[in-house]
Amino acid sequence: MNDLKGPVDASRVPRYAGDTTFARLPRLGDVSDADIIIWGVPFDTGVSYRPGARFGPNHVRQSSRLLRPYNPAQGIEPFGRAQVADAGDIGVNPFDLADAISTLEDAARDLSGTGRSLITVGGDHTIALPLLRVQHERHGPVAVLHFDAHLDTWDTYFGAPYTHGTPFRRASEEGLVDFDHSMHVGIRGPLYSRLDLDESEKLGFAAVHCRDFARHPLDDIINRVRARLGDRPVYVTLDIDVLDPAFAPGTGTPEAGGLSSMQLLEVLRGLEGLNIVGADVVEVAPAYDHAEITGIAAAHVIYELLGVLAAEGR
Ligand code: MN
Ligand code: MN
Repeated sequence: MNDLKGPVDASRVPRYAGDTTFARLPRLGDVSDADIIIWGVPFDTGVSYRPGARFGPNHVRQSSRLLRPYNPAQGIEPFGRAQVADAGDIGVNPFDLADAISTLEDAARDLSGTGRSLITVGGDHTIALPLLRVQHERHGPVAVLHFDAHLDTWDTYFGAPYTHGTPFRRASEEGLVDFDHSMHVGIRGPLYSRLDLDESEKLGFAAVHCRDFARHPLDDIINRVRARLGDRPVYVTLDIDVLDPAFAPGTGTPEAGGLSSMQLLEVLRGLEGLNIVGADVVEVAPAYDHAEITGIAAAHVIYELLGVLAAEGR
C-alpha cells in the first residue's frame, strides 16, 4: 500500500502536544483504509477484584506518545509497512454484561471488514471471548497465545459464566480454540486448588509458567512457544498482569514474581514470522498506576505486536 499515513511529525508538533491517538497515528476516519486497527474497549464489568480497567484505553494512548517510527529490535518501521490507524473507543453497556459482549462482537466484526487486523486495548479480560468469536468466524479454531499471571479458564464466579476469569473456558465450550496449538505464558501465583491447573491442561492448554523464566534461557522458551504455535493462525491475548507488579502496578489482580518488561518484549519479538491474526492487551487499570509505568509497558507491548503484524505485510 502506497501513501501510508504515519504518526504526527514530532519535529513539527512536540510529542506531548496534540491529539491523543495511539502513537499519534491517524484516526481511522482520516485514512482511506487501514491494514491494522487499534481500538479501545473501555469496559470492566467483568472484574473480580480491583475495578478500573475501563480507563485503560486512553491511559495507554497517553503513554504511547513517545513511541518512535523505527523499531531497532525488529529492524523495521511498522508504520511504513502497513497503514495503522486508531479507531477510537467503542461504547458498550456498563450495566449489562451480555449486551456489552454482543455489542463488542458486532463492532469487532464490522471493524475487521474483509481483512483488517485488530489490536484491541481493554478493558478487562472478558472481552477476549467476543473477540475470539470473530476470529473464529474468519479462521476457524485459532491457536491462542495467552499471556497472563492467571489461567482464566475458571468455570463461574458467583454463578456468573461471563467474567474476566472465565473467557477461555467459554471459548473452549464454543469450539473457538485450536487446543493442539494453544498456550499460556507467565502463569503464577496462588490458586484455589491443584484442580485449576488440571482443568486448564484438560482443556488442552500447554503452559510456560513464570518460574520457567527463572530456570531456562529465553531462547529455549521462545522456541517452545514457536513450536507450539506452528503455522496456525494465532490470536495473542495479553493480560498486562503477566508483568511483575514492579513493571505493571496499574492492574486489577496483581501477583508477585512476574515477568520483567524486557522478558515480555523479547518473547513478543520472538513471534516474528508466525501467522498472528489479531491481538488484545487488557487489564490496564490506571488508578493504580504510577508515573505511567503500566501504560508505557502496555504501549511498548502493542508496538512490538504491531511490528510483528506489519512485517507480515497486512
Ligand atoms: Mn490476569
Ligand atoms: Mn486475564
